[in-house]
Amino acid sequence: MSAFQNPSSGFEAIFSTLQNAEDAESTLNVLNILDELLSADTDHRIHYMISKGGSEALLSALIKNGSRSSPDYTILLPILYLVAKVGQKDCRIGKKAEEAGAVLLTLNLLKNNIQHAGRAEAYLNVIQVFAGSVSTSKHIGSNQGLDIVYNLIARYTIKNRQTIKASIIAFAALLSSKDNICSAVTKGYVSGLLLLYDEWHSKDTNHSATEILQALLHCFCKIARSALGRDNLVSHGGIRLLYHTTQTYLLNKCQESLIESSVQLMRSCLPKTRLPLTSDQSAYRFPLPGRQHDDLDMVATSDESNGDDDDDDDDKVEDDYQEAQSKDYEQLDLNSQESSSSSSSDDETGHCNRLPFDSSRPEKKTPEFLSQTEKGTSDQTKSAPCPLKVKDFYSHTGINTRSGGTKTGETREEANSSLTDDEQKNKNEGNGKCYNSPMTYLIDIHGHDIPYHEPSMYRAAALKTKSVPGFSTLAFPDFWGHVPPPGNEPMAPRKPNIQRQKVLEDIQRFLNTDIINQVVFDLEDECLQFPPAKPDSLRFFSSFECGNLRKAIRVRRYEYDLILNADANCSQHTQWFYFEVSNMVPDVPYRFNIINCEKSNSQFNYGMQPVLYSVRDALNGKPQWCRSGTEICYFRNHFCPVRGRLRTTFYTLTFTITFKYSEDVCYLAYHYPYTYSALRAHLRLLNRSVDPSKVFFREQVLCPTLAGNACPFVTITACHPSKSYTDIHQLRDRPCIVLSSRVHPGESNASWVMKGTLEFLCSHDPIAQALRETFVFKIIPMLNPDGVINGMNRCDLNRDDLNRQWCKPDPVLCPTIYHTKGFLSYLSSIRRTPLVFCDYHGHSRKKNVFLYGCSIKETLWQSGSTFDTAALKEDPGYRTIAKALDRIAPAFSFNSCNYLVEKSRSATARIVVWKELGVLRSYTMESTYNGFDQGIYKGLQTRTRELEEMGMKFCHSLLSLTVDTRALYGRSLINHMNPGHNVLDHKSHKQGFELDLKGCMANTCAEGGAEGQRTENKTARWCHSFTTVKSPAPSSDNTDVY
Ligand SMILES: [Zn+2]
Repeated sequence: MSAFQNPSSGFEAIFSTLQNAEDAESTLNVLNILDELLSADTDHRIHYMISKGGSEALLSALIKNGSRSSPDYTILLPILYLVAKVGQKDCRIGKKAEEAGAVLLTLNLLKNNIQHAGRAEAYLNVIQVFAGSVSTSKHIGSNQGLDIVYNLIARYTIKNRQTIKASIIAFAALLSSKDNICSAVTKGYVSGLLLLYDEWHSKDTNHSATEILQALLHCFCKIARSALGRDNLVSHGGIRLLYHTTQTYLLNKCQESLIESSVQLMRSCLPKTRLPLTSDQSAYRFPLPGRQHDDLDMVATSDESNGDDDDDDDDKVEDDYQEAQSKDYEQLDLNSQESSSSSSSDDETGHCNRLPFDSSRPEKKTPEFLSQTEKGTSDQTKSAPCPLKVKDFYSHTGINTRSGGTKTGETREEANSSLTDDEQKNKNEGNGKCYNSPMTYLIDIHGHDIPYHEPSMYRAAALKTKSVPGFSTLAFPDFWGHVPPPGNEPMAPRKPNIQRQKVLEDIQRFLNTDIINQVVFDLEDECLQFPPAKPDSLRFFSSFECGNLRKAIRVRRYEYDLILNADANCSQHTQWFYFEVSNMVPDVPYRFNIINCEKSNSQFNYGMQPVLYSVRDALNGKPQWCRSGTEICYFRNHFCPVRGRLRTTFYTLTFTITFKYSEDVCYLAYHYPYTYSALRAHLRLLNRSVDPSKVFFREQVLCPTLAGNACPFVTITACHPSKSYTDIHQLRDRPCIVLSSRVHPGESNASWVMKGTLEFLCSHDPIAQALRETFVFKIIPMLNPDGVINGMNRCDLNRDDLNRQWCKPDPVLCPTIYHTKGFLSYLSSIRRTPLVFCDYHGHSRKKNVFLYGCSIKETLWQSGSTFDTAALKEDPGYRTIAKALDRIAPAFSFNSCNYLVEKSRSATARIVVWKELGVLRSYTMESTYNGFDQGIYKGLQTRTRELEEMGMKFCHSLLSLTVDTRALYGRSLINHMNPGHNVLDHKSHKQGFELDLKGCMANTCAEGGAEGQRTENKTARWCHSFTTVKSPAPSSDNTDVY
């Protein structure tokens, strides 16, 4: 045994002995040695043995001993055992066996030994490993192997279970070939296996056959990999059987493995169902300038009806009750009696409508919202408020309803039709009894004290907002306002196995025929856009700013499937949601399923809840968006697009809401809504709030959007204290900070952060004053107004993600980006490159708030570059703000920041502003939708308060730059600036950086060539392009906004 001193020659010696052994004893000895060798160690030794020809040697021994007329099983069984053991680790065992002629021999031996359980089991184990190769399993199948093995799968018995299990496992292995699946289907083996599964399940009362059941499930999983197999499983009642067996497993803890396999199997078998829509395309279409309708990614809906649509279920009976309701809708909301021009509050930005608005769509009704006369009887005074009824606060009916209006009220309404709300309010205060509009009535009765929010101001702003569908209704929360709830909002605990439970509920829907399937709301069906309340059904509505529910289907008594509208002009990007719901039964859990979400995962699986606003609570002094919902879960479903590929998957967000009141109107949203009209109203209030002798606040229009909405552009700085030369120069030379937000309309959190920033910068806080005296803030708080207004999630009306257009923004199709970039270029051209640029965003998959910045060094490190970055000079100032925020902002996570300049993000604001415009500190600030997993807010979901605080803290962090700048230039920024010294001109810095980089890149490229450096060189090549970038031509259009 000296050979064993050298393992290599040791194995070879063993194989040689095995091959040449003529007597049983010596063969057995060798096999024992091999077994011992392979048992002592793990995979490593088996793989080594395979590399030395172990498989071939064992196969050759199998053939030699198996071909004998009466094989000696004392030898053959150990050989079979070793072939199975080694074969499991040898991915080529099937091929090797075929080449050696061992496959058919083994199959033949199995056939001759089916009565001999022990031998059959050994052959089955070998066939299983041979079948690991698809071509070998096909070869076995075409030689009756499938039938031989299938016939060994016995009905329920307590005997020979190991052999039965081995046969099922071998059968499953054979199903790796699609031909074999096809054959199994044709021969009825699938239904046979289902019957066997049923029998084994029902007779196995003491749970001793779990392994056999598990092996059968494994067979079904293999079968379900092909469409034919899935169909066959479903048509033979596979889902029903699995569903019912799973229900019994759920009662028994030890059968956990069966539950998981069964649920996954049922999910994969559920037939793909097309979304019950007429088209995948958005219900909102907007003709783009210079493009024909045909060019749009839109398809006419008339020829697209599909059999899945459930519209027919809706009964359209027009009884008196419904008629009364529909009259409410006619009167609703936005009052046509008041011309939009009568609102004088928006004059400054009134010149926004330069682009022709789509004239093909119906003329937008101008809002009558809240201008109607409401009850004017003496019992509705402040001292004796009448009990609320739902019609009193219905956002789009009650508030505007004339029901209950007195003759006096109607007369007053006419008389007052030309008055502004404030005037009307003043007038009402005189008599103390009558309220000429529901708004003044509600405000007077219920009080209204929300900082920086006035309903009348909101309404005035909304009057000018242009939506694609021509919204004529305001959502109550936007109108009335919101204050964050006083208490913390802890993340919702996840119920164990909630996803399994919800999936099983969905599977039950597939099996049951008593599903209601009644369309109760449909944006594209006029009869169902303003659906009359049915006694037993929730009522939905979403035709208001940021609203985007497209269809609601009642599937069970208290369960609704909801489908979101795709971004206007396209068929994708569904994630954000905002809709109204009413006619609820209190204290009953309602399940909502948003069935066409697109993202593959969501923070809804990690403690996040949707937000809910109750009108009744608001009128009772709690105007709050609150986190709400239980049994929240986000998972892949079986729906697919109407026309698109069947493989496209959607995800379901499911949550359960138990409403508190019967007469209530509630709103549900993905996150705290923040509309464009809210921004306009907010800016106006801010303008009114500042002390003009101290704060320079100016709102201008950057440009009109495609739909003709003004894109606000805000300047905030300190007024110069005197007209002295020094003061005026100090003002002129203040460094510029440029901030933007909400390029992605679904990221309403970004707007709340921006709200915090704006309010802080306008405040009396001494830090705010210092910042105003130090910097000029140029802010574009909503880069995508049209997207926000129309309830879109990602894009603009031109179907593009605006944050991928920064390299070459189209002046017509991406006006806000074109003009923002033009403005930045202009600053650059007059040697006033901003000190900081930051674009606020929301992040759907992460917690906390963090920054993405730009660092060439970190990018090279991350790409695994071997290039010596020590030679690369890079100002470390790109980390200053993050470091400051780490100290002062509890919501901020320094560890989540990164500074990589990714090629995939090369057309984003952050990278283009850094690369082309030379802004060293160019950031994306990402805020969570969910909450925090660190710091003092750990475990809490974010409220608007934390988001606004983050906006404020971001301003605080800018103070750190003054320290930096002082250190760099050895002088105080405040009041001591040398007018001739432009400290903020990064051009000189940038050039130095580029020159250094150029040399470095040349070195890096020279080192290239090795396989492992491919990524590095790719990055390096891309970085190299920085050195050749030309500054964009300044846009003269924007000089007036500076
Ligand atoms: Zn974003």
